[in-house]
Amino acid sequence: MARATQVLIDLHALKENYQKAKSLAPDSLAYAVIKANAYGHGLTQVANSLVSVVDGFAVACVDEAVLLREMGVLLPILVLEGPMGPDECQSALDLDLQIAIHNEQQIQWLSQLDEGDLHLHVKVDSGMHRLGFSPQLVPSIISQLHKLRVVNDIQLMSHFACADDPNHVFTAEQIQNMDGLMAMGLPMSLSNSAAIFSLPQCHHQLIRPGIMLYGASPLLGQYGPDLDLQPVMTLQSEVIAIHQIKAGESVGYGQGFIAQQDSLIAVVAIGYGDGYPRSAKNGTPVLIKGKSWPLAGRVSMDMITVDVTGSDIQLGDRATLWGIGLSADVVAEHCGTIAYELFCQLTNRVNRHYLGS
Ligand SMILES: *Cc1c(COP(=O)(O)O)cnc(C)c1O
Repeated sequence: MARATQVLIDLHALKENYQKAKSLAPDSLAYAVIKANAYGHGLTQVANSLVSVVDGFAVACVDEAVLLREMGVLLPILVLEGPMGPDECQSALDLDLQIAIHNEQQIQWLSQLDEGDLHLHVKVDSGMHRLGFSPQLVPSIISQLHKLRVVNDIQLMSHFACADDPNHVFTAEQIQNMDGLMAMGLPMSLSNSAAIFSLPQCHHQLIRPGIMLYGASPLLGQYGPDLDLQPVMTLQSEVIAIHQIKAGESVGYGQGFIAQQDSLIAVVAIGYGDGYPRSAKNGTPVLIKGKSWPLAGRVSMDMITVDVTGSDIQLGDRATLWGIGLSADVVAEHCGTIAYELFCQLTNRVNRHYLGS
């Protein structure tokens, strides 16, 4: 029998979420961001599902782009961190990849290539200070790049540091830094999922939806369902033991939970070995038979313990850790993290099942 701990990936919901991004930015192209194994959802399956509906894909690194080309994906692929060496510049040429260019060294590598028609996305550091050229340097960088024989198209891109908080003043500052470059008349890409929802003036020619495709919220204090997003990943397991304990007795490693009353404790077969976060605190919701119950005690490698006092929960009852009926955003809040990390941390021990196509 297959292990009951499994993850269901709803490919229909994935496509609906992509359409949601398109409907929010109807005049922009939208490259689906499927880096990091499609945020833990499975690169191959996610790409195969989206390939017939999206304008293109975005990944972090050339290796991820190579996998997509090997699958036969012919759509535009944008490599968000750009080439990491001269060989990767050559790969970009050979595989027709669009690449971010964010430092002088990359330009040096490009200048050593013979000929081609590369499509570059010059990354502007509008304030995040992670990747990119400072705005003042951009005009000279662009003219330098135009002189290279391998370059065909150039557009500009930048990334927001605080777009998850729609009222943050820093976002206005970043937008202002980009405004000065608008006069260059180059196509522009600024919007991640958060900006797709909250900054319509920043949609420009190309949007880069990531987390919203997977049904989680990019905005602070709002959950996926509030934004009309559908959960794609549902993580499930089952109850494998039930104990009646007395008031004052403890549960799990370090006596992480002490019962305040006589309590019923259900043991569910999932733990940090599957990617359920050890940082989940007492009280983190777990759905069992459609109802929410609080985590009670520390997460172990293979098991968690849940306070189901007063329930008629039995061995073999199904538990949902996040997904349909329990937003990953809510669980993430209880773990002091974001749904992005929960999705990416899922381990290979968990069998993935795909619904829809
Ligand atoms: C990962 C990434 C995105 C997608 O961000 P989400 O918040 O998941 O929508 C967009 N742009 C860049 C540069 C990224 O690295």
